[in-house]
Amino acid sequence: MEDILTDSYKFIYYNDELLICPKCRALLSLNGCQKFHLNKKLIIGKQKYICSNKKCQLTLNTDLNQYIDKYCNYTKEIKEKAMKYSFIQYSSYQSKAEYINLHYGTKISRQTIYNANNSLID
Ligand SMILES: [Zn+2]
Repeated sequence: MEDILTDSYKFIYYNDELLICPKCRALLSLNGCQKFHLNKKLIIGKQKYICSNKKCQLTLNTDLNQYIDKYCNYTKEIKEKAMKYSFIQYSSYQSKAEYINLHYGTKISRQTIYNANNSLID
């Protein structure tokens, strides 16, 4: 997972644990790919699955919650970097954003860093 933070290519993330339906234990079939704009920089494909049991047909998406907060396009790692930077140098959100963008080639806004900072305090 770390590799895709620095490399820019299309990436399909498989989660092997998802190959069996958690509801009825039948095999899951591949069900297309959901495009996801990671760090507003990379397009990655999140594999979708559907249960092969016609009575169940549960659908699942590859779960990236371990790396990415819900409704957020940025990985937790990048947001944490932005936080750590604030301990090194007491700087404005604007300069933190510029640092992150320079380092990762992203276009994170000062507002995103501000929000991430506040959610850490909560
Ligand atoms: Zn099922």
